[in-house]
Amino acid sequence: MPTIFSHAIFAAVTGKAFVRKQVSFWFWLLTALCAIVPDGDVIGSAFGIPFRSMFGHRGFTHSIVFALLFGSFVALFVNKYLQTGLTRAKLIVYFSLATFSHPLLDMLTDGGPGVAIFAPFSAERYFFPWRPVVVSPIGMGFFSDRGVEVILSEIIWVWLPALAILILAMIIRKVWKKQ
Ligand SMILES: [Zn+2]
Repeated sequence: MPTIFSHAIFAAVTGKAFVRKQVSFWFWLLTALCAIVPDGDVIGSAFGIPFRSMFGHRGFTHSIVFALLFGSFVALFVNKYLQTGLTRAKLIVYFSLATFSHPLLDMLTDGGPGVAIFAPFSAERYFFPWRPVVVSPIGMGFFSDRGVEVILSEIIWVWLPALAILILAMIIRKVWKKQ
């Protein structure tokens, strides 16, 4: 995985590129949560779920089905408790995409198991053909030399592209307004 920080930053920053409405801090916190939750699957190994099974790491919680289910759940919660000015359908699409940004980024990493995006229908694991992001070690390995390499690679391949998307969206909006 890229580290959970990078998952959260990517979803919140690219999310900001698409949400024009003024929304509260909680909205962004929930966006970040959506992008982090799929890696909750590592807890499964403590309960004896094999790492590479359908419900192991990068299994079901990294699928399109899970993104839709969890995204819809968060969207309904937001629709009920937060004032966003966005329709329920838009919220469902938004939070499902925020959740699905996680497996997409995982598919760009150079290690770990592939991502079961079509679970539970298929246990097949996938990567993108191009995988520039250095995979983050699970647990304390993060605070090693490899940790520095991981952070640098995430800044270049995750943070900067997210920022570029946001800046581009802001420029497009400015130009649009002037017309
Ligand atoms: Zn992951």
